[in-house]
Amino acid sequence: MEPMAQEQKELFGYPYPWLRSCWRELSHRYLSQTLPHALLLVGQRGIGKADFALNLARLVLCQSVTGSTEALFSSNLGASANLVSSDDSVSKSDSMLVEDDRELPMPCGHCRSCLLLRAHTHPDLVELEPEQKGKAIKIDQVRELIEFVSKTSQIGGYKVAIIRPANALNINAANALLKCLEEPTAQTLLILVNESPQTLMPTIRSRCQIVTLPLPSTQLAQAWLRQQPQVREAEVKESEIDQMLYLTHGAPLTTLHYFCGDMQQNRQQVLDGFLALTKQNMTPVSLAAEWSTLDVIDIIDWLYYWLKGIVIRQEQVNCAGNTSEIVMAPVLATENELFDTVLRCPALAPMALHLFVNVLLEAKAKLVTTANPNKQMLLEDVLIKWRQLMMQGPRVDWG
Ligand SMILES: [Zn+2]
Repeated sequence: MEPMAQEQKELFGYPYPWLRSCWRELSHRYLSQTLPHALLLVGQRGIGKADFALNLARLVLCQSVTGSTEALFSSNLGASANLVSSDDSVSKSDSMLVEDDRELPMPCGHCRSCLLLRAHTHPDLVELEPEQKGKAIKIDQVRELIEFVSKTSQIGGYKVAIIRPANALNINAANALLKCLEEPTAQTLLILVNESPQTLMPTIRSRCQIVTLPLPSTQLAQAWLRQQPQVREAEVKESEIDQMLYLTHGAPLTTLHYFCGDMQQNRQQVLDGFLALTKQNMTPVSLAAEWSTLDVIDIIDWLYYWLKGIVIRQEQVNCAGNTSEIVMAPVLATENELFDTVLRCPALAPMALHLFVNVLLEAKAKLVTTANPNKQMLLEDVLIKWRQLMMQGPRVDWG
């Protein structure tokens, strides 16, 4: 592949197509100097909140924003048009994914600021994250941020701080951050990123302008995924894209993540373990320990997907094929074995699976809405309930 083609695929600072309307609004507010000093970007996992925040930082720090004037509009047109026509397999409807970009304000990608950003060495951008994944953002990190905000910018424009996930701020850190939010310094933009506004302190929330980033339509998500090199190279089937989108509740980046890296392997590991638990060849505690390196939300999502599959199969059996729900063809061979093992379980009460679906939904809600939840304990609790269900049916004390 030619270097230029690769470059175009990673258009610097371009928003995902489903976030374009949010981009349009915020970039125009920036250019008209009406951007608030603190934004809180919220939305479902896997829709690109972090990338959006970083792109916004790039726009605000760029010294030569393009796309906002007639002259730059035409020079940018070439890049977009090439992207569309470079591959014949991109259908006309898919080309809608990029055709609007040329008119949106974008970071130029070439000025001193943009070059520093590309090298991840821009002195006026700070990204505040937990030092370890899943841990809290500490007060010392916020103190450094306060110092950063109080100084003048080094390049001579804006200073930007991205804080994510904002609910990782522990109470002391959040209180320290309030100072920045209450007494904003000029030409400073704080971007807080979180799945839900509800898990943040009201005092933090009320000092930020909340921007809700949307999910794409299924059609747009499918079209976008089909265009991604990883999906093309892996020759992923359309039906598999649809299934994974269903599994990730329509989140395109989580779906894409599944098709690259070790997600497929992880999913198989969870499936094997869950089958072993169902067959009582493993205990809930040892299984939770085996899964400790995996993402708990992924695990809960997969379990939810399989449970839905089992419930649908159970309904089909009970109603002799008269079901209105979509039948999901299993992707993995082990899934069939799991479905059969569960449905043949003698202790399985009629409503037991629905009750367990609720257990999973509650666990997911806890993971998303609690600051620093104890993930290991939560997972053990879910698995213990499953084990009880398979051995003796649902218990009254579940809730
Ligand atoms: Zn630039």
